[in-house]
Amino acid sequence: MSDTKVTIRRDGDVAVIAIENPPVNALSGAVRQGIWAHLNEALDDVACRAIVLSGSARAFSGGADLTEFGKPPVEPGLNPLIDGIEAAEKPVIAAVEGLAYGGGFEIALGCHYRVAGPLAQFALPEVKIGVIPGAGGTQRLPRLIGPTASLAPIVTGDPISAHDAHELGIVDEVVTGDVVEEAVAFARAVADRRPLNRLSQDDRRVRDVDMEAFEAEATRLLSRNRKLRAPQACVEVVRASMSKSFADGMALERDTFHELREGDESRALRHLFFAERAALKLPGVPKETQPRPVERIAVIGAGTMGGGIAMSMATGGYDVTLIDRDADALKRGLETIEKNYRRSQSRGGFTEAEVEDALTRISGSTEIADVAEADMVIEAVFEKMELKKAIFADLDRLCKAGAVLATNTSSLDVDEIAAVTGRPQDVMGMHFFSPANIMKLLENVRGEKTAPDVLVTANTVGKQGGKVPVTVGVCNGFVGNRMGAVRGRQVHALMLEGAMPQQIDRAAKAFGFAMGPLAVNDLAGLDIGYSVRQARGEVMEIPDAIVEELGRKGQKTRAGYYLYEEGARTPVPDPEIEALIRRIASEKGYSPREISDEEIVERLVFPLINEGAQILDEGIATRASDIDLIYIHGFGFPLWTGGPMHYADRIGVAQVAERLEHYAEVSGNDELRPKPLLAKLAGEGTSFADFDRGRRG
Ligand code: NAD
Repeated sequence: MSDTKVTIRRDGDVAVIAIENPPVNALSGAVRQGIWAHLNEALDDVACRAIVLSGSARAFSGGADLTEFGKPPVEPGLNPLIDGIEAAEKPVIAAVEGLAYGGGFEIALGCHYRVAGPLAQFALPEVKIGVIPGAGGTQRLPRLIGPTASLAPIVTGDPISAHDAHELGIVDEVVTGDVVEEAVAFARAVADRRPLNRLSQDDRRVRDVDMEAFEAEATRLLSRNRKLRAPQACVEVVRASMSKSFADGMALERDTFHELREGDESRALRHLFFAERAALKLPGVPKETQPRPVERIAVIGAGTMGGGIAMSMATGGYDVTLIDRDADALKRGLETIEKNYRRSQSRGGFTEAEVEDALTRISGSTEIADVAEADMVIEAVFEKMELKKAIFADLDRLCKAGAVLATNTSSLDVDEIAAVTGRPQDVMGMHFFSPANIMKLLENVRGEKTAPDVLVTANTVGKQGGKVPVTVGVCNGFVGNRMGAVRGRQVHALMLEGAMPQQIDRAAKAFGFAMGPLAVNDLAGLDIGYSVRQARGEVMEIPDAIVEELGRKGQKTRAGYYLYEEGARTPVPDPEIEALIRRIASEKGYSPREISDEEIVERLVFPLINEGAQILDEGIATRASDIDLIYIHGFGFPLWTGGPMHYADRIGVAQVAERLEHYAEVSGNDELRPKPLLAKLAGEGTSFADFDRGRRG
């Protein structure tokens, strides 16, 4: 019953109402009913002069119960509850420890005062699932701290520490002792103070605002992701707090919330939210499997990847030994790490203290024997099988029993590497993406013999290091790069068929990619792809000719598919490249045709979906939603789509299959034919979401 989720007790003349709905005090119907009932009880009690509303050490409240989304409402709704708290004739004090997120924060805003412990965190993260705060957050927060200061928390959804919340004026007092006891003392001190602070009736902070500063802050925040609707809606609703009454502002908040909640963007972002949680559940790995303890991580190879991996791990709180046999490379690697931290610090990504802490965690060594102390090793040396085998033989000899031995290889067979050790159960791939300190994707590669607790350890460490871990199986390119190769071939085919680089890139950007695929190639360096193809005996006529005939390597030589002005990164289309493409196309017997932007987008996206289906069929990825995470967090796939597989569901798998058949005919390219699983789902009229549900069951 309701009162089992919320309790009340008396501490002298103060009533203490506590939410007890583990793990994070989600505001389920029973919780709302419990708060309501106890609030009224305390208000009726003549001996009670003030009320403290508290949660647990972990969470005051983590907000709405997402599983209630879309179900019939249970009374009281959150808004009437918050209005009731605010209207109370006795002071109500929120005692916040841990998280006050979403509806939890909004309840605290309905209280007359807020007292917080030092580890409290406040956030309105609704924007991250494509909606806006829906229980007064957009109207009460501006009335508490002003509209301009309210923008960042509402538009980004990022959490605010207790210290910052105090500076901003969200919290009345940060206390170091027992938070509930301190809140009771605070309640007693303010018990007779009148009038009570009712934000809905206090317009002082939302009148005569410096509009120039407000608009400048809004523009700054919105430049992060222009394609998404929810952040823009956040700004519009906060802006309304300045021109509308509280009641009208609330009506706009409610209408906007409902409109966004029903939209594709919110559906996509909710899908990704649940996908991240689902990705941690692995077939054949019992739920209760515990990670192995990890404190020290050795990273071998202080190059591009090793440095970035070391940073992620140090930022995540691990001690890191960075090992490179080349003393100069080690020195360069350590210097680059420090430079990157300082640059992030100057942009506000880290505080001075955080950078100092991370840097003191990283030590360098030129001796592989220094892996002996490590609980986990991540190898990131050159991509050469013989070298990796030699290193893993060393690791087998030198590492302590139970250490997790991971390789960051992007293309080599993890099972072959594991086989040189006497402990293949401890070996796996941990495939980070460049730049590894920034990119969130981590493909954890499960070898044939990898032990369940090793996989769980890699997921735990990955999350702690700020990554989105997704477990995949062994195959060439794993999931992300394998799909990327398919897309790369389509880009090449489109050029041969008559589309120019600037048209392809323009269409890709209009769809929502941050950069077009050819501009990305120029940025990554055309020589890199060229040497990989050479090593594999592969041919791709256009980029091969750009490197061989024109000696271009992309941005670093200020010429690739495009030209680049000195010091600039803006790609300038180049007639010489257009002529080269047309010449090669004609040599290969193509006659150029008009290609629409729609075809370009479909041929960039649908083959990815097709290869994703094949990967699922082979069991290399467990779920379609895992593939979505990979493409969103590792390959800049537009967030609003929810990932390629979710996007396929939205437009209909049958439609995707039909278009692929069509393009296979038009271009004579058999790689475009629907793969068996795609054809099967299309034939059944089912979706990738249905496929995922089937796998779970
Ligand atoms: P890199 O050339 O920048 O760095 C490799 C480092 O390893 C060098 O500093 C080298 O001195 C060191 N090294 C070589 N042999 C060693 C040994 N025996 N002992 C200790 N150190 C040794 O290479 P990178 O781009 O960082 O790639 C490293 C690995 O990560 C490769 O397996 C690569 O396939 C993989 N990877 C690279 C990327 C990328 O985008 N660069 C992305 C994902 C994975």
